[in-house]
Amino acid sequence: MTIELNRLLFDACESVRGELATGKVASYIPALARIDANKFGAAIVTVDGATATFGDARETFSIQSISKVFALTQALNRIGDGLWQRVQHEPSGNAFNSIVQLELERGIPRNPFINAGALVVSDVLLQGQSPQSCVAALMDFLHLVADDGSIAIDEEVAQSELDTAHRNASLASFMKSFNNLEHEVSDVLQVYCRHCAIAMSCEQIARSLLFLANQGVDPLTGARIVSEQRARRINSIMMLCGHYDASGSFAFRVGLPGKSGVGGGIVVVVPGVATIAVWSPRLNASGNSHTGAAALEAIARASGWNIL
Ligand code: GLN
Repeated sequence: MTIELNRLLFDACESVRGELATGKVASYIPALARIDANKFGAAIVTVDGATATFGDARETFSIQSISKVFALTQALNRIGDGLWQRVQHEPSGNAFNSIVQLELERGIPRNPFINAGALVVSDVLLQGQSPQSCVAALMDFLHLVADDGSIAIDEEVAQSELDTAHRNASLASFMKSFNNLEHEVSDVLQVYCRHCAIAMSCEQIARSLLFLANQGVDPLTGARIVSEQRARRINSIMMLCGHYDASGSFAFRVGLPGKSGVGGGIVVVVPGVATIAVWSPRLNASGNSHTGAAALEAIARASGWNIL
């Protein structure tokens, strides 16, 4: 099984190697611009514990918005469905850092995977604790789901993002004016920027979200992370909102729930089967990894894995 899976992953990734020069590395966060743009890795972890890896699968990189899946899961575990009064679960059709919809919709973001929605999620996570202990609790949760206590925040990326978080500060202030933030904007930004700066490898990312492929239970440790219904809902939001204004075209091409980050990572869930993470830093115009999406399309085609 693992040999076949490694072969499938290798062939699919090699078939898109010619795409690697297309796209641009994110440079609006200065520390991200320093990454080697030719990195290319991928990992598949199955619910029965098989792992296949390709290229730079074991090298850590900035997970950026992939962290929004962990933050959402943690916020739902904290306050449950009350979250949906403060953030919707609709596709936005707009860029990840867009502010336009927020005015029309009176400070209630479209979904938890655009920046505005993730800032609300950070505000929820802050309830009753300092930014430091809030981030520490999120890291504990990540260590649990990844079954790996070594995962850490890249402090250089965190500082670089905080120093340049003008757009996110605007989104947060705007929502505060609509009373949709309880805490100080600076504290919310601390939590948000620090969770975006978590560094993980493809293999660690795929492993950590295996519970979403197995109805909320980590299939390798047996720990229940979320209820079955909640796992289904998180997957639904990944399907509809995981790639911002390119969510439709990603679903069209790959047919699986996924979440991207501007560090060039993308993770997808194959319910009942596996999770797959890919990494290639050059991004398309919507801020999603160009070659990562192409690799996932090739893997989905070769494996026949899809939810449709
Ligand atoms: N930390 C990034 C930001 O706030 C996350 C964006 C992303 O990965 N799409 O802009």
